[in-house]
Amino acid sequence: MSTTTKQLQERTQGAVLVPGDEEYDGHRTGFQLLDPHRPSVIVAARSETDVRAAVEFAAGSRSPVAVQASGHGLASPTEGVLINTRHMSAVRVDPRSRVAWVEAGATWRHVVEAAAPHGLAPLSGSFPGVGAISYTLGGGVGLLARRYGFAADHVRRIDLITLDARQHQVTEEADPDLFWALRGGGGNFGVVTGMEIDLFPVARIYGGNLAFDVQQVPEVLDAWRRWSTGVPEEMTSAVTMLTYPDLPMLPEPLRGRHVAQLAISYAGSREEGDRLVAPLRSIGPVMNDTLRELPYAESGSVFAEPDQPHTYRSRNLLVNDLDPQALADLTKAAGPSAPVMTVAGVRHLGGALAREPRIANAVGHRDAAYAVSVLSPVQEGERELVAETHRDALAPFAGAALGCSLNFAFGPLGEDEIRSAFAPADYDRLREIKRRHDPDGLLHANHPIPPTAARTS
Ligand SMILES: Cc1cc2nc3c(=O)[nH]c(=O)nc-3n(C[C@H](O)[C@H](O)[C@H](O)COP(=O)(O)OP(=O)(O)OC[C@H]3O[C@@H](n4cnc5c(N)ncnc54)[C@H](O)[C@@H]3O)c2cc1C
Repeated sequence: MSTTTKQLQERTQGAVLVPGDEEYDGHRTGFQLLDPHRPSVIVAARSETDVRAAVEFAAGSRSPVAVQASGHGLASPTEGVLINTRHMSAVRVDPRSRVAWVEAGATWRHVVEAAAPHGLAPLSGSFPGVGAISYTLGGGVGLLARRYGFAADHVRRIDLITLDARQHQVTEEADPDLFWALRGGGGNFGVVTGMEIDLFPVARIYGGNLAFDVQQVPEVLDAWRRWSTGVPEEMTSAVTMLTYPDLPMLPEPLRGRHVAQLAISYAGSREEGDRLVAPLRSIGPVMNDTLRELPYAESGSVFAEPDQPHTYRSRNLLVNDLDPQALADLTKAAGPSAPVMTVAGVRHLGGALAREPRIANAVGHRDAAYAVSVLSPVQEGERELVAETHRDALAPFAGAALGCSLNFAFGPLGEDEIRSAFAPADYDRLREIKRRHDPDGLLHANHPIPPTAARTS
């Protein structure tokens, strides 16, 4: 360890790790195993003071600095300083004002578990292991999305350390520009140490999933699309489609089968939920039906996503309409003839997501009706094939595309793609706010928004 990193260690409670240290690998990797960070220094932060020391160290040495919570979103690794926030996972709930204070590294599981005893729920997403802060910085489309809107629409305060090592308590009153940018603009403007978010009086939902064999019900995606156009805002749903490999470790009924799983999250009673999903149950023979009334604390079972870290890439498009032919093509793209295993997903948006929040934020494309995504595990030597497969799979949706969602983009994006996530004027405003707080672009955000060029006088 060099003199400077030793000095850094003297200032931090959490460990300072360099390559070769025993805990180094465990702290640079997270859920995404493809292209992990290869930092020269990791600060395993335990407090705001640690984060501040790490930022000061990075800025002082003109080194890029990145943040990792649970590593689900990692798209572009850093070789500079990595602030790992995993040990900062405290959550405090105030049931009377229905808010939660969430530390930088808390996952949704931490927040859901803290809120549930009070009959409250956060606007968490499909997978409870995802970092609550990163998700919210990127907008955040959750299981109650059509009922309450984006997670970023329900943030009250954000504690932030900017690259000049200043601490900010960002609210609409204290700093309207930063408050606007941080809610939807991602981790581009500083390191968030904690966030105060709204909770909602949702103790139970009606949810789970319905699985169909696509060979038996080839038009399942289009049937779901038609159904989705008539459901109330309390109903949030999505389709995930994939072909399971024919492997002995999988349950027999799934092996080698092309399956469409309709994920349902209804913020209402079982009776009403049952009535609403009846048309879906009659699309064709149901392979598996897990729909039930469940405590929100079990909401991770709705999408039932795999929880083992792995290597993956994903792309997406936000669209204002779903063309039946494009859906038929997507069905094929996730089918047995796909060049690489591809998981196609379509989420139903609209409802409260389409309405401006009380205090405007940077979230783009509120008018999108659906998000279409493709995801593949990436095996050695398959990167280009995966990229090509994803481009081909999304091509039929290009005509209806408004842009993309950065939260659902698992892989590096070009600047045009990052720009496409926002309204043009909002993107320019984000770049200007970036210039004010990080003119040299030292903060290496997942999907970086470049600062506008410095003004010459
Ligand atoms: C299985 C799975 C399910 C998902 N489900 C949903 C969903 O339902 N809805 C949805 O909207 N999204 C969903 N996502 C996307 C997810 O919200 C984003 O990928 C998110 O960025 C992941 O956050 P993380 O903390 O887990 O990842 P990380 O890789 O740890 O963080 C991602 C990025 O966030 C930034 N960041 C993290 N912490 C901070 C901080 N303290 N300060 C500043 N910047 C920071 C950094 O730029 C970092 O690179 C899902 C992703 C996966 C893999």
